[in-house]
This record gives sequence, structure tokens and C-alpha cells, in this order.
Amino acid sequence: MVRSIISILLFCVVVHGVQAAQNNIEGIRIWPSSENTRVVFDMKSAPDFTYFTLKNPLRVVVDLQNTNDNLNLSNIDNSGNLIKKVRYSKAKDSRSARVVIELSRQAKPSLFAVAPSDNLGHRLVVDLADSAPSQNTSLQASVNNVVMDDKSSPRDTNIIVAIDAGHGGRDPGSIGPAGTYEKHITLSIAKMLEDMIDAEPGMKAIMTRGSDSYISPNRRPEIAREKKADLLISIHADAFSQPEPRGGSVWVLSMRRADTELGRWLEKSERHAELLGGAAEVINDKSSERYLTETILGLSMDHSMATSHDLGNKVVDELKKVTSMHKRRPQAASLAVLTAPDIPSILVEVGFISNPQEEKNLNWSAHRERLANAIFNATKRYFKQVPPDGTLWAFEKANNRTHKVRSGESLSLLAQRYNVKVSSIKAANDLSGDIVRVGQVLTIPRT
Ligand SMILES: [Zn+2]
Repeated sequence: MVRSIISILLFCVVVHGVQAAQNNIEGIRIWPSSENTRVVFDMKSAPDFTYFTLKNPLRVVVDLQNTNDNLNLSNIDNSGNLIKKVRYSKAKDSRSARVVIELSRQAKPSLFAVAPSDNLGHRLVVDLADSAPSQNTSLQASVNNVVMDDKSSPRDTNIIVAIDAGHGGRDPGSIGPAGTYEKHITLSIAKMLEDMIDAEPGMKAIMTRGSDSYISPNRRPEIAREKKADLLISIHADAFSQPEPRGGSVWVLSMRRADTELGRWLEKSERHAELLGGAAEVINDKSSERYLTETILGLSMDHSMATSHDLGNKVVDELKKVTSMHKRRPQAASLAVLTAPDIPSILVEVGFISNPQEEKNLNWSAHRERLANAIFNATKRYFKQVPPDGTLWAFEKANNRTHKVRSGESLSLLAQRYNVKVSSIKAANDLSGDIVRVGQVLTIPRT
């Protein structure tokens, strides 16, 4: 079974306590070039390795048998832009190391071991054939290429956000002291959020319910998956037996429930292809299907949980600008609507409908609008930082330059220097005024 973070920690303690693995990664060097990026693992002895690739995000996963994972990967010199990051992930057993090379775009890997020569020792070479789109193709053509290359699962160039209005139909949710139904409040906020997302180029909203109808909690993440959502946001309003509690909170799936869900998905082998998308082909080629499915599902769940936490923190940041908060960090819970291993999912409690003042606020459309806007801003901030591969935002990000503002520089000066309009810089950075501060990092669009 896939382990939780807690058992991974225990796992590491056990490994180091029992027996040192034989091989060692002594260093990792990256040589970027325009067509081919080379990653060299300097090894103590000949590497015994296997590898596979994954999408969303794109990465090459290298398993090294009987190898320590002592090397600190955070100081690797990486001046190119193909490799986003080199990190460890949970290895398949206590004596192995798993190294994940995260890519910013598609690249075809080839791996081979090199015997010692001259003063160099054993090496494992990972060559990545770069598929960077050439600079002179038009934006849309390039985006199409990125998407069309991935024939197994062509994706929408929009980032798809599934919005889930809590309760509905025969399930009213909580009922406030003045008789307000949670299901109406959640649907109203969901619709406001839908409008904001649909008005944003590069984003698209889908609703698990668009009217006052009943949908079971288990069905909701399935709808998100059918619509190929990149994210699921479920909207609720809290209630308590006493009138005092107030404020919003954000919830993500607990590790314990995540483990249970992974086990459940592993048993449902007929649904693996649906869940794994393009990665299912990798599995069909291998004999150890069960192990690979577990690995890929585990990585997918890791990614979803990490994303949910990151986004959850951003939603808390934005919500506290417009309402009081009941919890100032994302909270973990076992909730059916959050159980999709492949779709990052958060649940937002917008306030306590059982608190008379908050019930009043929730009945005020300007307040609901502010809540929807806070969730929207957080989502936008999150995806601007880490746009899913193949989306318009990912393409724009790959093609943008950044500039750190120095003393004496203004927007008009930068616009002149980079030969772009002031208005394009403002749009690319979501700036409302003309003021920039020293040290601020600005995105400079290419056109
Ligand atoms: Zn609820």
C-alpha cells in the first residue's frame, strides 16, 4: 500500500538504521544546450537503474537500485530552462533511490551508463532531446503543437476549474437561524466564481451542479474527472450548535483518507486507464503492472495533495482580506468530495451560516461576490505560478522574460527597453497602477 508522509519518515529512519546501501550518487551535473540537455549522475560504482516518464507535470523518474539518497539536490547548478527541478521521491524499496527530473516541456529521454575513463568515475547519463517550439511560430500554432504532440490525451488549452456548489435538491445543507439554506448560498457563490473564471482568458469553469439538484458527494469528483478538470473547488458554509463560531476555513484531504482511497483505486483495475490517462500505456508494456500502477497513482496523489496545500494556503491568504477566518491554515479532513487522486481538490467553508451576523453577510450579494473573488484571485495566482503543461498559460510563461526592478526604473523605461507597451506589462503582471517597487520581479511579455 502507498504510505503516508508519516510512514515515509519512519521508512527513512529504518533505512538508515539497518544497512547502508552500496552505491552512492556523488554528484549531479546538468549541461543545457538548445537541442539536447545532458544530466550526468556521478556514481560511486556502476549504476543499476530503470526509468519511466510521466505527464502532468512532465517528468523523468529514475530508479537506482542499492543506492543512497544522501546527496543534497537543492544546490545543483541548473542554468538551462528545460529542467525545472531535480528532486527525490519515495523509492520503491528502502535500499533504492528515486530521482525525479521535472521538465518544463516535452523531451525524449535516453539513459545509459558510462564506465570510468581518465579521471572520471562511473556515470549515469540522461540525455533529454529538447522539443522547444521555435521562437518564430505563432502563439496559437505553438500551443497546438504542444497539445497535438500528446496524442494519447489531447488537452484543452484552457485551465479547467471544476466548481462544486455544496449540497442541493433534497439536501439543503445547514440552515441558518433566520432560515437561510446553505445549498442556495453555495450555488450563488459558485455561479459568481464561474463567471469570473470564464471571463479570464486561458481559464474555463465547469459546474458539478448548475441548479438546485441533488448530487451525491462521490459523484462530484467523477464529474470533475469526466470534464478533465485541473482542479476541484467545493464551496460550503459551516454550521455549529452554538451561534458564536464564525469565519472561513479551507480543507484538503487527510493523508490517512488519501491512503485508503489509493488502495481502493488500486483494486479497481478496470478504472486504471481512466485515471492514469497516457501513463496507462507505460503500464501495459511492463510485467510488474501492480507495482507501476501503485507508483504512478502514488505520484499522482502526491502531486494532488501538494497542489491542494499550496492552493489552500493562497485561498486562506485571499479570504482573510474579505472575511474573518476560523482557521488560518488549510485543515485536513476525510471528505468524499476531495478524494480524487488525480485532481487537486479543496473545500472552502465561506463562513458560519449558524452565526446570525455571518448568515446576514452571506445573504448579501456584495459579500458573496467578495468571497468568490477571493477564491478566484487565489486560483489565478496559483496557476500563474505553475500552469499545467499544454495550457495557454504554460506557453505564455515559457515565453516570458522576467525583470527585477532596480532603483530608478519605471514602467515606461522598461517598456521602452524591452520594446513592449506599458499596458502589456501591466496586463501580464496584473498591475492596476503605474507604481513598481525596487526588487519587484516583473513578467515581460514577448509581444
Ligand atoms: Zn456543507
